[in-house]
Amino acid sequence: MTSADAAPVPHTRSFWLETAGPVEARPPWTGDGRADVAIVGGGFTGLSTAYHLKAREPGLRVVVLEAGTVAGGASGRNAGFAMTLFGLDLGFTVFRFGRQRAKEADDYMVRAVHHTRDMVHRLNIDCDYEEHGLITVATNPAQQRRLHHHWELSRSLGLHETRWLDRDQTRELVGSPTYLASCFDPLCALVHPAKLARGMARAVLELGGEIYEGSPVTALHPGSPAVLELPGGRLTADSVVLATNAYTWALGRTVPRLKPVQAPMHTYIVLTEPLSPERLEAVGWRRRVGVEDGRNLIHYYRLTPDNRLLMGGHDALYYYGNRSDRDHHAGLARRLQQAVVETFPALRGIRFTHHWGGPVSVNLDLAPVIGRVGGNIFYSAGCMGHGVALTQLNGRTLADLVLGVRSDLTDVFFVDRRVLPLPPEPLRFPLINAIRGLLRLQDWWNERARQRPPGGAGMRL
Ligand SMILES: Cc1cc2nc3c(=O)[nH]c(=O)nc-3n(C[C@H](O)[C@H](O)[C@H](O)COP(=O)(O)OP(=O)(O)OC[C@H]3O[C@@H](n4cnc5c(N)ncnc54)[C@H](O)[C@@H]3O)c2cc1C
Repeated sequence: MTSADAAPVPHTRSFWLETAGPVEARPPWTGDGRADVAIVGGGFTGLSTAYHLKAREPGLRVVVLEAGTVAGGASGRNAGFAMTLFGLDLGFTVFRFGRQRAKEADDYMVRAVHHTRDMVHRLNIDCDYEEHGLITVATNPAQQRRLHHHWELSRSLGLHETRWLDRDQTRELVGSPTYLASCFDPLCALVHPAKLARGMARAVLELGGEIYEGSPVTALHPGSPAVLELPGGRLTADSVVLATNAYTWALGRTVPRLKPVQAPMHTYIVLTEPLSPERLEAVGWRRRVGVEDGRNLIHYYRLTPDNRLLMGGHDALYYYGNRSDRDHHAGLARRLQQAVVETFPALRGIRFTHHWGGPVSVNLDLAPVIGRVGGNIFYSAGCMGHGVALTQLNGRTLADLVLGVRSDLTDVFFVDRRVLPLPPEPLRFPLINAIRGLLRLQDWWNERARQRPPGGAGMRL
């Protein structure tokens, strides 16, 4: 048995992948072939792109090549918040891109959340979809000031409507004694991400798209057409979509322009046993809202359909050399287990049943990008930990780009935007860790200020 003092948990695979139902295995790519569009990656981005291409141009041969299994990457491991957050936070987005683009980003994200809901309903995907909104909670005065500033900023920019909740209103929703205030965003849904991805895969197949699993693209030779090499053969394609997210770096061996675009950073999750009705009552989670806190390196948490508490975040780790296969981290699992109990003291002694994690795609200016190499290779990167809804709409945007259709989606500022280049190793590791260190330091300092006794007797840095 595992309790909050943290022994290893029994299940080290994503709960979502474990509970998504029977796996429909698909064959690997073999031989030499030709497609109109090759999509590399069978997560939300790749599946959504394939769906929109086939829905618009049924005659196209669209081939999805997935290295492992559908949703085996971030799409089958995330926390399942379909949310409006773009980039690191609103303050940083305004600082980096300006007020007008922050508004454009918000419009896109609102549309992404609506689009996700429409897709779930239109395709009749059973993915435990529920809409209760999201509260971003302040657990210390500095977070409260920053969140309130962002809320005022969002109003002054005319972003979609959110509400400021004081301490009592916040605790009315979720009863943690650590909450001081929060910002409520009604536009957030919770999904079972692996069921969503598998439902999308079925829709792609029904439209005549092809999906090959166990099919890693080992080399990409740009050109018109482009040529993709796989262990089982080659595929020649007029257009290529790289829906490889945090794993994109590996393709940089044959397409060097991809290397500086993004880096894989790992985020981790722990999951409890189902909360009994008494425990649920004790934590006071009266509506099933999703929760994030106001740290830079946030905690994100929600209830699963069977009332387990899922908590993730606390830190994000970069491993030297762009490693993207570190799916567990005992130290962070322990820290997350502590965070669950600190947030909800009534859960002391709860059993933790699952721990997993995975890489998200992060770039130097902490915001998404849809880019291209030459005229016919398109990629999406930088979705960070906020890609569930975003990638659904990005698929539609990518389909427009492949079809050469100019639309309000392809005109959004982060299509073909200039990304600040990440340096190669050995500089990449210290640079990313320096940025992470600053974010952690600020979180630590804010927290320390909260713990200082009234009268200001605390130590200073
Ligand atoms: C622990 C965790 C929690 C998260 N929580 C949230 C959340 O609550 N809300 C939110 O909005 N976002 C969240 N995210 C982020 C979100 O999951 C991602 O932004 C989104 O799933 C990205 O989808 P994708 O299709 O672009 O990438 P992925 O799902 O990562 O898919 C990429 C696919 O490409 C395949 N691939 C890579 N290289 C090759 C190759 N050479 N050949 C063939 N196939 C290849 C991989 O196997 C993988 O399946 C979270 C992420 C993680 C890891």
